[in-house]
Amino acid sequence: ESEPVNNLRSPICCILGHVDTGKTKLLDNLRRSHVQEGEAGGITQQIGATYFPIESIKQKTKPVNKKGKLEFNIPGLLIIDTPGHESFTNLRSRGTSLCNIAILVIDIMHGLEPQTMESIRLLRDNKTPFVVALNKVDRLYGWHSIKENGFQDSLLKQKKAIQREFRDRVDSIILQLNEQGLNAALYFENKQMGRYVSLVPTSAQSGEGVPDLVALLVALTQTRMSDRIKYISTLECTVLEVKVVEGLGATIDVILSNGVLREGDRIVICGMGGPIITTVRALLTPQPMKEMRVKSAYVHHKEIRAAMGVKVCANDLEKAVAGSRLLVVGPEDDEEELADELMADLEDLLGSIDTSGVGVSVQASTLGSLEALLEFLKQMKIPVASVNIGPVYKKDVMKCATMLEKAKEYALLLCFDVKVDHDAEALADQLGIKVFSANVIYHLFDAFTAHQNKIME
Ligand code: GDP
Ligand code: MG
Repeated sequence: ESEPVNNLRSPICCILGHVDTGKTKLLDNLRRSHVQEGEAGGITQQIGATYFPIESIKQKTKPVNKKGKLEFNIPGLLIIDTPGHESFTNLRSRGTSLCNIAILVIDIMHGLEPQTMESIRLLRDNKTPFVVALNKVDRLYGWHSIKENGFQDSLLKQKKAIQREFRDRVDSIILQLNEQGLNAALYFENKQMGRYVSLVPTSAQSGEGVPDLVALLVALTQTRMSDRIKYISTLECTVLEVKVVEGLGATIDVILSNGVLREGDRIVICGMGGPIITTVRALLTPQPMKEMRVKSAYVHHKEIRAAMGVKVCANDLEKAVAGSRLLVVGPEDDEEELADELMADLEDLLGSIDTSGVGVSVQASTLGSLEALLEFLKQMKIPVASVNIGPVYKKDVMKCATMLEKAKEYALLLCFDVKVDHDAEALADQLGIKVFSANVIYHLFDAFTAHQNKIME
């Protein structure tokens, strides 16, 4: 683990954008290391994230740093693994995102797509700074790829007609972004980083532009947000997921964005039935690749320093709420006070339920996704009678069924980014409760309005 340089911690970055724009492939390209195995600076897989130490970043940016002018002050970069906008909403807690910076991926051949718009909205709501990767430049007709090259050099080596087509597409995307209220410019022509979003043309396929993208992330996080990534001892930790692991029971996967977490710490998290106060039994990270032959799948740590993705083992985690903050009880702290503070996150949300008792039932994967969904339903003036977090079970369907008598048109479940249990589905069918499932909020809305229209006919 690297010591913080200049007291900066590793910034946390997430990737979002429309489906099939190349988010996964970009991450795969980033992960491909040119550093020899065993040498210092290997990229490590963490819980829910990939850690890029500064050595691997230096390596990756070499094609655009031939003169060695780039400065590297951050110790590394933590990229959240699960790309896709739905996971981004899961990374929100209380309207802030745990990401310091984001990469919004747009397919240069397609321009803005529905989830691009939704992503922009989320980034704006969370005030998350971001850069745009204009991906799939290799698809420009006649493009000649130079593997892992800096983009500007690659562009110069293309035929004039291709350079022109590139310009046309960029101009058109800039216009589309303008329509969304965003100023944008190619990053190497961007003179006002604070006011204009930077566009980085990339190809996840050939690796072109990826050095530019990484260099820009480093420069932006170091210069424009150095106070936000100052290493501070105050703990900042968010629950990504609750997972049952054989032999370990219910565990939570967390992202530690700041501070230190130790074995034996008293922790407080938000639970569905009330606050959970428990003690950290073990802090785990995955076994490094080359040590896969070791029996245990995990490495134990006495303490872990931000920024890191970690699995936490403790008692009573079954009802932990994904998206909840995690607090450590300090020597001066009052457990109950901390618990009240945390539960307020959930209670705020429950407070937005329609008091008339008439409305739809909603179910979401995390606090963040529930918040996003409730905000959206409020804008759409769709009343909500009950909410829950986690998979849908029979009891949720039963609760929803009470609406059959009160207001039939609202006897339905809107499920955002959650699994629906088989028995629950069967029961819903039997009772005539509609269950709408989607990983994208506006898909839920479309399904809901189509259903309402059908009822009205
Ligand atoms: P995601 O849904 O955003 O994660 O997209 P994927 O990474 O799964 O990519 C979707 C498809 O586009 C896959 O078939 C990829 O191989 C392809 N793809 C992604 N990036 C590029 C690129 O830069 N160039 C080309 N030609 N294909 C790409
Ligand atoms: Mg993907």
